[in-house]
Amino acid sequence: MLGAMAALTVRPAFAQGVSRSAGAYPFALGVASGDPARDGFVLWTRLVGPGGAALDAGAVHVRFEIAEDQQFRRVVRSGMHWTSHQRAHSVHIEVEGLDAGRRYWYRFHGLGATSPVGRTATVPIQTARFRLALSSCQHWEQGWFGAYRDMIAADPDLIVQLGDYIYEQTYPGQPVVRTFGSDEPIDLEGYRARHALYRTDPDLQEAHRLFPWAVIWDDHEVLNDYASLANREGVPPGIFAARRAAAYQAYFEHMPLRPSLWGSPSAPQLYRAIDWGELASLSLLDTRQYRSSPPCSPPFSARNVRLVDCHERFRADRTMLGSEQETWLAGRMANERRPWTLLAQGIFFAPLSLDGSGQSVFSDQWDGYAAARGRIMKQLVQPAVSNAFVLSGDVHSFWVNELRPDADAREGPPVATEIVTSALAAQSPPEGRFGDALVNNSHIRYSNVERSGYVLADITQHAFGAALRSIDRHSLRPKAQVLAKIIQERSSSKADVIVERPGAKGSL
Ligand code: FE
Ligand code: CA
Repeated sequence: MLGAMAALTVRPAFAQGVSRSAGAYPFALGVASGDPARDGFVLWTRLVGPGGAALDAGAVHVRFEIAEDQQFRRVVRSGMHWTSHQRAHSVHIEVEGLDAGRRYWYRFHGLGATSPVGRTATVPIQTARFRLALSSCQHWEQGWFGAYRDMIAADPDLIVQLGDYIYEQTYPGQPVVRTFGSDEPIDLEGYRARHALYRTDPDLQEAHRLFPWAVIWDDHEVLNDYASLANREGVPPGIFAARRAAAYQAYFEHMPLRPSLWGSPSAPQLYRAIDWGELASLSLLDTRQYRSSPPCSPPFSARNVRLVDCHERFRADRTMLGSEQETWLAGRMANERRPWTLLAQGIFFAPLSLDGSGQSVFSDQWDGYAAARGRIMKQLVQPAVSNAFVLSGDVHSFWVNELRPDADAREGPPVATEIVTSALAAQSPPEGRFGDALVNNSHIRYSNVERSGYVLADITQHAFGAALRSIDRHSLRPKAQVLAKIIQERSSSKADVIVERPGAKGSL
């Protein structure tokens, strides 16, 4: 911990973050907003001590203001909020009763200081356009977060973070642009310090300040490849549960998530819906907390391995979402009324055969949970669902996949499309990791396993359009290149993929 804070004080990005007030600015981690609704949102900040360290104080009084204008002439809401060391002096304000479809500005006052002014918006009732940015996998050491500059310039309505927001591990032997300056977190103090370090990045902080976010986690927020309580270190579930609870608590403390989801700190509910007017439904899924252990592996062990001829992966009693979340999603799909149905979730959804046999797959993806995937596909082919997109991350590469009704048969006309966004800032996969994916998987339309970046999507009444934007993670001022565009008309369930730059192995 001491090591972490010492490193914090010398990092150049952090120096930029606190430049507005030498060292002791309590709002050095910035402000954030998230989970917008028609009448409100969540506002976030966390007060810290000198050098970004945890605040050495008990209860602290924080005042917030929400205004209709940037100068705070028309303040529409203000109030007092107590926070304390029990929540790492984080502040979560859940706001209701505001007007739909308009911008608001907000700020906090505490410890004699005023926070930066944040900007956010409520969800419109009717809207012609919904622009969302998809972000995944940001490894502090492996890249700068300059992609957020490009994202900020695109002025999205919502930034969806699909997981691996933080990384717990250092990967020795890989090139780094900066270092964590601390060991792998294993307890509450460690995870809090890791999240705080991330929020000192000026580009990440600015993206939080200017736009509402919707976040879901994947594995690295706790430990690579974990599945419910099964883990790669073979730690007994009872002991791993304490580490997971610490990681979950630190995550909720640092994200603009509704406190009402956080009833049980060791088992918070992350899955939820953020529907955008009458245009798009957005279901945000938790694919880590409730999932069965990976198939064909020892009890309580979870590592992403290449399975060959593992029949257990097809078992009907295996779950990815857990029964409650699955029932919740089924209810939403049965009552879907919006033209566009979006499922945001952490991991590769489509089948991905790693060789010509069709039986070699990764255990950590939905391929390890084939029956559970089949149940989701059944929901997506209901008449109520007209155009479904699965939005995924995790694999540090861009993919566009057709989803067929019987996903595993990989036959029949496409009924939905999956877009997998690459890492925003993390190492590309080792050469050959996915085999000759385009040859062995006829439903995969596009793949680029060499570039990092993000996805920018525009949804209108008539069409869904998305661009795969490649960003050099080694550059602080990167320029985006569009690798491919995906366009799907409302009347079609098949996407057109317009390739601007093919991956190394070609595409289409
Ligand atoms: Fe990742
Ligand atoms: Ca992951």
